[in-house]
Amino acid sequence: MIVDAHTHVGRGIARTEYSQFDASPEWLINQMDKSGVDKAVIFPVFHPVFRHGNEEVAEAVRRYPNRFIGFAGVQMNCRKHGLEDVKYGLDVLGLRGVGELKPTNLSPNVLLPILGAIEKRGVPANFHTSVRLADYIAKRFPKLIVILAHMGWNDPHAITVAKERANLYLDTSTVSLDLIKQAVEKLGAEKILFGSDAPFIYQYPELKKIEVLPITDAEKRLILSENLMRILEEGG
Ligand SMILES: [Zn+2]
Repeated sequence: MIVDAHTHVGRGIARTEYSQFDASPEWLINQMDKSGVDKAVIFPVFHPVFRHGNEEVAEAVRRYPNRFIGFAGVQMNCRKHGLEDVKYGLDVLGLRGVGELKPTNLSPNVLLPILGAIEKRGVPANFHTSVRLADYIAKRFPKLIVILAHMGWNDPHAITVAKERANLYLDTSTVSLDLIKQAVEKLGAEKILFGSDAPFIYQYPELKKIEVLPITDAEKRLILSENLMRILEEGG
């Protein structure tokens, strides 16, 4: 089985170049079928408040329960909205994780209560952030499974830090083949998750990167599905 740990669904209301992408559930399933991907973790696209985006994700999961695993977006830069997104996305809509989180307001009064609320619910969190901040979060919230998207933008230091923190994982989206290979050698395949970032990044070549790696089939299986499924089972 192949599971993509990092995709997006929905149109959102972002007024950016990304809004031109058709991130409908059907578009994504079509890409998955072409790429040979069985299931995908879906995040919403970008919203100032994620209520509507999380509803889009929950609706996509309702329609395609065998293809999608829904994660909730959380507004990380406002305590009130962030806590609302956590409650509504996880407690009401029943989504199984949070992502892709982009904390830029590092005020402890904002960041810590939101992260505390996520940790309390025992679900994994995918972060699009720096290695340094991911390290801080993983240390401060040891029960929270922290997945660092893009290995902190191809940062080799992510490997060292993920080795130190038992709860810190890395996703392979946009990461160079060479750096993924290094990560498997130095960190172990158990801490690495295949992710593409479709529709913003082409899914098929992202998957091919893992398939052509000179590693064992057992290591590939961990990266391509087993690690994520284990995290979701343990996280509840
Ligand atoms: Zn993404």
